[in-house]
Amino acid sequence: MPWYRRKTMQAQYELDKKALGGLIPEKGNKTRILVLGSGFAGMSFIKSFLKNVKYDIAENLELFLITIKNYHLFTPLLYQVATGLVNEYHILDPVRIKTKKLDYRVIEAEIKEINIERKFVVTSLGNIAYDYLVIALGSVDNDFGIKGVKENAIPLKSAKDAIKIRSKIISSFERASLLDIGNPMRKSLLTFVVIGGGPTGVELVGAIRDYVKQLCNKYYSIDSSECRVILIEAANRLLLQAREKTAEKCRRILESRGVRVLLNAKVVAVEQDGVVLADGTKIESSNVFWTAGIKVNPVVENISDELVLKKKGRIIVDEYLRVQNYPYAFAIGDNAWVTSGSKLNPVPAMASAAVQQGEYLGKYLASILSNYTFKKPFVYKDFGLMLSLGRFKGIVEFPNGWVITGFLGWLIWRMVHLVKISTMRNKLGVMFDWAMALFKRRIVTRID
Ligand SMILES: Cc1cc2nc3c(=O)[nH]c(=O)nc-3n(C[C@H](O)[C@H](O)[C@H](O)COP(=O)(O)OP(=O)(O)OC[C@H]3O[C@@H](n4cnc5c(N)ncnc54)[C@H](O)[C@@H]3O)c2cc1C
Repeated sequence: MPWYRRKTMQAQYELDKKALGGLIPEKGNKTRILVLGSGFAGMSFIKSFLKNVKYDIAENLELFLITIKNYHLFTPLLYQVATGLVNEYHILDPVRIKTKKLDYRVIEAEIKEINIERKFVVTSLGNIAYDYLVIALGSVDNDFGIKGVKENAIPLKSAKDAIKIRSKIISSFERASLLDIGNPMRKSLLTFVVIGGGPTGVELVGAIRDYVKQLCNKYYSIDSSECRVILIEAANRLLLQAREKTAEKCRRILESRGVRVLLNAKVVAVEQDGVVLADGTKIESSNVFWTAGIKVNPVVENISDELVLKKKGRIIVDEYLRVQNYPYAFAIGDNAWVTSGSKLNPVPAMASAAVQQGEYLGKYLASILSNYTFKKPFVYKDFGLMLSLGRFKGIVEFPNGWVITGFLGWLIWRMVHLVKISTMRNKLGVMFDWAMALFKRRIVTRID
């Protein structure tokens, strides 16, 4: 872009920013509820609140959602976007909801700081005051300070990350197809490494195995035996949140599909050309994907520990999901450390827990605003763990320890996830993508 055009665009941007800053509504007499984040927790709170709040109360309320992106990302299908199974737009649900009940607005802005004492939030568009606050900003990747992770590994947290992974795999195939068999660069380009043997890593690696096989057989003249797909886990087993026998079954399924699973393998560095393990081994690879951990959102992390009690960065809440000492502020989803009402202690940082907390809080807040003393504390229902491990293979672990594997596990996974997608357009889109994939038709092009 020529310099003069760049300058005009920058000037326009500054003007827009100024104008938008002025558009943030001043706080008037209406009670303002501010929801931070349009993830599983934030959106299920909004839907539940809109459903439960009474009309006569609602007319004196304003409900503002502040989020950096005007969509809700359906993370459980991210790995399918990364492996060409599902179109990225099919996992993005809109956050704008039409309602006549109350003044509901979406403000697309970045939240920079929460001032919990003085009841306002600092955003990229200015400060926004509130009466009630719902903190639902989720998590971010954690590289545990390991050298080179940020620079040389691609995480899987956003839609952009998923597209980056897909593009990386495809561009590696393009380059490898130009090199002779036996060329060390070709070997590195055809080696795919996933770091982190939790649910995300396990699902991603299973899907990469299928994708790579399909790219070899259908689009590139490369024998699939040339491709190496490796899962690296620092612990002595996969899936620390599952029972040991489930984790073992998962390992066996992955290995039977051609994934090499390395346990007790601690990554000490990720370099441009591969992964270095603690024992000095180096795995040469041009494709390194990072799914080894999450940490709390920096905005939450930056709330002073002297004001708000936290554990592992998450805000400790009581049985009504209230932030201690601040009864008008609530934390839900990955931001909350919830110990009450569950055998699992704390309630896990999972979508299903975030949805349950959002739904509960919607009812709770609607009820206390009606001056009704709400007695029922939050109770978490554990629905177990569900994983898809590639074509026609899945695992479902129920809370009582029952485990279903194979085709039935895969089918249950698909049915449950399809039901959870919130719009009909996206449900149909995903069904279409899955139908195409049954006939081995995936997304094999890249844009970057
Ligand atoms: C790849 C992947 C796969 C997963 N698969 C599963 C699964 O199969 N099952 C399951 O139960 N869980 C799964 N999870 C975990 C699940 O996604 C989280 O536990 C869940 O999203 C937590 O919900 P939340 O609302 O707390 O946060 P999120 O859903 O992460 O939402 C946070 C929201 O805050 C917004 N936000 C963040 N920072 C800012 C800021 N500074 N300013 C403005 N807005 C901001 C974000 O844009 C987002 O809208 C997966 C996670 C990942 C990454």
